[in-house]
Order: sequence, then C-alpha cells, then structure tokens
Amino acid sequence: MIEDIILKLKGINGISTKTAEKILFDLISNDKLDDLTEVIAMINSDLSLCDKCFFVRENKKCIFCDANDRNNSKLCVVATIADGFRISKSKYDGLIHVLGGEIDLRKNILPDSLDFNSLISRVNNFKEVILAFNYTIEGEVTSNYIIKRLSTKKIKVTKLAKGMPVGNVLDYVDETTLNDAFKNRK
Ligand SMILES: [Zn+2]
Repeated sequence: MIEDIILKLKGINGISTKTAEKILFDLISNDKLDDLTEVIAMINSDLSLCDKCFFVRENKKCIFCDANDRNNSKLCVVATIADGFRISKSKYDGLIHVLGGEIDLRKNILPDSLDFNSLISRVNNFKEVILAFNYTIEGEVTSNYIIKRLSTKKIKVTKLAKGMPVGNVLDYVDETTLNDAFKNRK
C-alpha cells in the first residue's frame, strides 16, 4: 500500500522517490491531510485546461483568452503552464499558447509527441508569434522547429531576447528580466 502511494506521488512532475516518501509521511504525521484534500477538491471543481491556449482556466475562465483587455495581435508560445504563469505576471499584454513540452531527443520527445497542430492552426489570427522557450538545446530545437513550420506563413516570428545565461529556465527568471526580454525580442 505504502509503495503504491509513493509510486502515484512520483508520477507528479518534479517529485522524486525521496520527496514522495517525505510528502506521504508528513501528511500522516502532521494532520495536513485535510489541507491536501481541500486543495485537491478545489483543483477538481474550479480548475480546468483552456481548450484554446492550454493554460489553466479558473472557474471556466481563462485569464488570457477570456480577457477583454489583452492585445490579441500577439501570441507568445511557451513550453509549460508554469511558464505561462510567469508570463501572466509580466507586463506582456498579448495572448499565450502552452505547447506542453519541448522537443527532447534524449527523452524521445519528438515533434510528433507534441501538439504543434493546435498551435499552427491558431497562428493565422495573429500578427506576431513570440517564442519564449528555455535557453537550452531543447528550447532552441523547439523554437527552430516552429520557425520552420511557420516559414510559409506571413507572420512575424520573434524570440525573447537572451537576457540570461544559456541554460537558465523561465522558472528562475525575475520579472524585470522577463519584461526586458519581451522588450528586446528579435
Ligand atoms: Zn486560454
């Protein structure tokens, strides 16, 4: 039973065996089970995925797609919902698209493993597509793949400026750096 629970917890991105054990034993010994039950109930009832941009919807409303005050000529493409969350905190005022990952040959994540078609079918509605992938090999490969796929379309494609050292991920970028990277996109 304990092993099964640990295995299930490990299925969550970023949780190692050690962390899974810590979470489980902490939940049992510290009366935190009610909090977690509440969190899971909230996720279940109030959060869902937006079927246009694949960001999180709160109470069936996407803060990007369902907002009236955003600039709908710009589309920023990110790898993960967490990246989209960072973008939502920045000064960027356009819309976003969450790809759901990056091409990663070492992990056998090939172009076919990702939903590029949803992105490609959306871009015609925009004047500019801004690629905001990580400054890693995987991020670069994914950006280049999208640039190639969009090369036949008359859409301006830009990339966030490299305001940070290679290998840095969006998670660790502060808001000012992110805003600058948008301002200096090429
Ligand atoms: Zn949306």
